[in-house]
Amino acid sequence: MTDPHLAASRTARAIGCVVGSAVGDALGAPFEFGEPGVYRVRFPDGVGEMCGGGGWDPGEATDDTQMAVLVGESLLEHGGLEPADVFRRFQRWAASDPKDIGLQTEDVLTGGDPWDTAAARHFDRTGRAAGNGSLMRAATSAVFYAGAGRDASMAGARRIAALTHGDRAAWEGTAVLHELIRVALAGEDPLAAVPATLEQVHGDHRARWATVLSDGWHPDDATEFNGAAWPCFGSALWALRTTTSFEESLAAAIDLGGDTDTVAAVTGALAGAVYGVEAVPERWTAPLHVPLPGFGGRVLRLSELTGLAVALAGAPGRGQWVRPGG
Ligand SMILES: [Mg+2]
Repeated sequence: MTDPHLAASRTARAIGCVVGSAVGDALGAPFEFGEPGVYRVRFPDGVGEMCGGGGWDPGEATDDTQMAVLVGESLLEHGGLEPADVFRRFQRWAASDPKDIGLQTEDVLTGGDPWDTAAARHFDRTGRAAGNGSLMRAATSAVFYAGAGRDASMAGARRIAALTHGDRAAWEGTAVLHELIRVALAGEDPLAAVPATLEQVHGDHRARWATVLSDGWHPDDATEFNGAAWPCFGSALWALRTTTSFEESLAAAIDLGGDTDTVAAVTGALAGAVYGVEAVPERWTAPLHVPLPGFGGRVLRLSELTGLAVALAGAPGRGQWVRPGG
């Protein structure tokens, strides 16, 4: 029998994951491509508020959250992963002139190739396809797959990542993120789960992920811009590890500079899953809004994101739709 207290806190964590990621995205967006230290100069209180800027209104979420919503709604409407449908939704969104879209994602979605070969062909052409764009949108799918267990969740992460990212490094990182969120939603410590999760990573990619996700790694150790998958996830985990609240973790992530919306979106997904939605301050959730270009002028606010998270966490039979290794 399910302990009602545990069930409630699990739901709060699931909402925290989805809302926390959106909050991180919106909070970090005005600081995108800025230098380190800018956030704490702007907000000497160390936590800050939704300020807007750089083309963003205060509380406006960017492509990170927009794509996460598209993934989550597709999973719910189909009762599982229909990759062609997720790709179609991405294409419809990409064709509607979103304010922000990753270069790699845009190339894959607008290149005219079919869903099952577009990302691989892009990788073949460019040799570069391990951007952080599959990590940034993973909150919804991580919540959806959590009840299906580790292997199914990691398999789902890989398949969704592969829609836009041809480099297996991105799939493996997104699979690790799914698993750490699954652990957090169960009320356990995701940091403690890193070593065992790395054992599940493809051997060709394990060492590089182990480096950036290790306890001793610091964002200053990054060997590339944090728009790449490795330092993005490493920085998010560092922000979670070195702070003691949801608010502090996001401030630490954004203060690193660079791809601030995405590093904070990944941090917010993890920290929200750890601390639960009660830890996300109202001054951040009240102005939060997620426009959805290409979908009839829809704008999701806290209530809609909460409803989405609850549905994703409780979708019946969610374990049946996963085809591991597919
Ligand atoms: Mg963005």
